[in-house]
Amino acid sequence: MTEYPPIKVLDDRLINQIAAGEVVERPAAALKELMENSLDAGATRIDIELAEGGIKRIRIADDGAGIRREELPLALARHATSKIGNLEDLEQVGTLGFRGEALASLASISRLAIVSSALQNGSRGQAARIEAVGGQLSPIEPAAMHEGTVITAEDLFFNTPARRKFLKTEGTEFGHCEDAAQRIALAVPGVAVSLTHNGRRLWQYRAGSAGERVAAILGDEFMGNSVAIGDSVGDFTVAGWAALPRYSRAGRDQQFLYVNGRFVRDKLLTHAVREAYADVLHNNRHPAYALFLTLPPDKVDVNVHPAKAEVRFRDSRAVHQFVFHALHKALARSAGEVATPVADPLRWVSGNIGGNSGGNSGGNAGDRPAAVNNLYQSPSAAANFPRWQGATQATLGAMTPHSAQESTAFYEALRGAPAVLAPRADVAPATDIPPLGFALAQLHGVYILAQNSAGLVLVDMHAAHERIVYERLKNALDLQTLASQPLIAPMPVSLGERDVQRVREHQEFFSQLGFELAPISPQEIVVRAVPAMLPGLDVAGMLRELLDDLGEHGASRALTEKRDEILGTMACHGAVRANRQLTITEMNALLRDMEATERSGQCNHGRPTWYQFGLGDLDKLFMRGR
Ligand code: ADP
Ligand code: MG
Repeated sequence: MTEYPPIKVLDDRLINQIAAGEVVERPAAALKELMENSLDAGATRIDIELAEGGIKRIRIADDGAGIRREELPLALARHATSKIGNLEDLEQVGTLGFRGEALASLASISRLAIVSSALQNGSRGQAARIEAVGGQLSPIEPAAMHEGTVITAEDLFFNTPARRKFLKTEGTEFGHCEDAAQRIALAVPGVAVSLTHNGRRLWQYRAGSAGERVAAILGDEFMGNSVAIGDSVGDFTVAGWAALPRYSRAGRDQQFLYVNGRFVRDKLLTHAVREAYADVLHNNRHPAYALFLTLPPDKVDVNVHPAKAEVRFRDSRAVHQFVFHALHKALARSAGEVATPVADPLRWVSGNIGGNSGGNSGGNAGDRPAAVNNLYQSPSAAANFPRWQGATQATLGAMTPHSAQESTAFYEALRGAPAVLAPRADVAPATDIPPLGFALAQLHGVYILAQNSAGLVLVDMHAAHERIVYERLKNALDLQTLASQPLIAPMPVSLGERDVQRVREHQEFFSQLGFELAPISPQEIVVRAVPAMLPGLDVAGMLRELLDDLGEHGASRALTEKRDEILGTMACHGAVRANRQLTITEMNALLRDMEATERSGQCNHGRPTWYQFGLGDLDKLFMRGR
């Protein structure tokens, strides 16, 4: 064993360089710290210029309060901050920064320059400049500048080659920088933000409403396919937008979660959101959302991670439940309640015929179609997200849809019932048109065309019915086992030996679902009763698939963990098939059921079930009135 070297206290520069590994492990992290400093200083404009992915240069100019000349060296000192002074401040922290180590860390691993003109007694003082190379400060010099602060960090990690080696290509580092900038920009719609890379201006978000900013960053298509979230319980508030399942993504690239204005990656929150989507989203698809959670600062600890990317909640269960319920409720709004399922379903059409919808350039909110800006304009924009709850539901009439439980025998039973096409005389016409309108026709046995007050409604008959059946099955099974209906003539179904064996073993499972099955030979069973809720049933097909599910999961798990999958299988087989002719009365009954059914905007595979084509959209399509 060799002797230990003596213990020494590290010098400040080395301490900063070590700390820099945590706080600014890559250009994007430095950019984030600098932008947060600008915001803490009250900036209304932040201009970012990067060179070579931020490795060569990061330059941030803001119009914030500035740093007083004599405090410039302090700004670069470790554990020096203007943001907190004592422990109580830390517990109530309202600024993005407070640890006083970002600038010191960054200065220790780059060539840093600060030029600032501070606001003092209501006017701007003479600007001053300080430089630091690898943490070594230069004397302060006068400089020319009007307002705010410009911080330039060049040659990141030039003096810590081991760290520099961990940097990826310019393109990758730039990508991280852009992500970081957009994450921050998304939370501060009242602040104008621009990004330039290698001399090219890539985007510029003007100050505006929350909706404009979200549309500028996530795109019009996201906006058009989202529901606004706005909910609060006690002192918890959540606001933002969540995409409908039909806009699901292959990756997690459009998941923006904020806690008190701070972008976070938080397992608990992500889980709550994921759960809220569980029922409407295919397993390997990812939801898109921009959600802003606000709660009193003493109910969340942001100081558990040097870059504050993680948080710890005082009462994590309550937070989980709150977020889950808010989102689940919003996503569950039935078709009748969501005013615009697709804000601009014709965008691809007009795109194709040379219209001016433009597509998502991801660019300036200022050159977005006026309609988008108007749609999502919120009165009290700025940094505070208002509650929009009313907005999406505003155009709804006071419709009371039929209760979902009313019709279980479905559309057969409705044959011969009086047509509901003609408006009833005793109700004012405006409220008499249900949200999804009245059926006009069936198209190629697949789609229902309907007319509502906004224009044309197009429904995928099977997808819509599948969701209705699925929701009903779930509700019914929640209460008890599914009711069964005996067949007048028992129906033989031939199966493989293994499946017949499974039927034998899992009688209980099938009877819970409303089936009565009896094996009559090693390869054959008879069906004596079927679920009463699924009259038009494809019995053999459904049984085969259920047996597959059983084989995969085992009966013990099937009805607990895989319940929804099982019911989904049944719904798919129980739902009206394409090419089945429906009468107008039957179609109207389906539309009313959709209005009364939760989550009816998507089938259980997350595909959309209907689209709204507004009269304006149709006019545009035909270039009418232009
Ligand atoms: P923290 O943000 O945790 O306070 P930093 O090292 O990031 O620590 O910044 C140190 C101090 O420098 C801040 O507390 C603030 O007073 C000042 N400062 C940094 N950037 C700016 C800026 N862009 N405008 C005004 N003051 C700034
Ligand atoms: Mg800071």
